[in-house]
Amino acid sequence: MSKIRPLPDHLVNQIAAGEVVERPASALKELLENSLDAGAGAVSVDLAEGGCKLIRVSDDGGGIAREELALALSRHATSKIASLEDLHRVSTLGFRGEGLASIASVSQLLLSSRLAGGDQAWRVAADNGQIHEAEPAALAAGTTIEVRDLYFNVPARRKFLKTASTEYAHCEDVFKRIALSRPDLALMMTHNGKVQWRLKMESPAERMRAVLGNEFADSMLAIDEAAGPLRLRGFAGSPTISRSGRDAQFVFVNGRFVRDKVVLHAVREAYRDVLHLDRQPLYVLFIELDPEGVDVNVHPTKTEVRFRESQAIHRFLFHSLNKALASTRAGALPAVG
Ligand code: ADP
Ligand code: MG
Repeated sequence: MSKIRPLPDHLVNQIAAGEVVERPASALKELLENSLDAGAGAVSVDLAEGGCKLIRVSDDGGGIAREELALALSRHATSKIASLEDLHRVSTLGFRGEGLASIASVSQLLLSSRLAGGDQAWRVAADNGQIHEAEPAALAAGTTIEVRDLYFNVPARRKFLKTASTEYAHCEDVFKRIALSRPDLALMMTHNGKVQWRLKMESPAERMRAVLGNEFADSMLAIDEAAGPLRLRGFAGSPTISRSGRDAQFVFVNGRFVRDKVVLHAVREAYRDVLHLDRQPLYVLFIELDPEGVDVNVHPTKTEVRFRESQAIHRFLFHSLNKALASTRAGALPAVG
């Protein structure tokens, strides 16, 4: 047996990257979430080769001070929580302080930022775990992060990357989720130099149309229900436009895209008598509740949540959707109660 010894930081980050940065799309998700947490109003994304060669995210958010640039790339360094209480009522998308450190450990990363009201932008480069000295940069406002050659130093992992078009499709999924969740955000994305998406700030219904298309937008049913601390807003697709796959089902809990069995089941039940079981409904649902009522710290990628009162959530979702869908039932009578 060899001796027990602590792992070097760089290796610890690379191990974490295995979970947090499964593929370019997961790095893109971390970067976009950081821009949202920084209060950005406009975000633009440039990708090359499905994000394998380049992921660049620029925002007009609050920025990072020169002396904190290196810290932003360090493991377990975050401005978003400071105590266990903060964790229990966290309202930002990030809080683990490992996104940038993980990405930086498996790519060539360049972080440039200008603090709101600051007179100068600064940038730091990280490669192979080495964070270089900050140097002056040219940037009008906000933050730009460039991630090049993801997994260049982890060949075993790089082998798992699919073709550029497959990786791009995953990036587009991430982009769409952000776009649907924040119609107030101006967003744009290019791939290999070509503009793929350009979304201006718009109303929720307009954003649904821009992202999910006319067929959905023309027949979607708007939902806005509340029960005590629970609120459900969003749009349920008419049963007439079902699909065979689940690719147009979006659920956000307090602004965060999640996949959750309780939610899926409640929605499925509500569609039960208007949609054949082998067809999938389309929907975009925003569930809002007291942050203390939901644990978001279940997995490093934060797409899983645990509801404290999952039965109450199930009931509320089922009833709200059932009510919205009542109008689509043949010969339906107005819902009572
Ligand atoms: P987390 O998001 O969990 O805090 P990250 O590693 O993703 O961890 O980011 C570390 C810190 O860097 C954040 O807490 C934030 O203070 C800062 N940061 C990262 N991206 C941005 C950005 N686009 N604009 C402003 N600050 C940022
Ligand atoms: Mg983050």
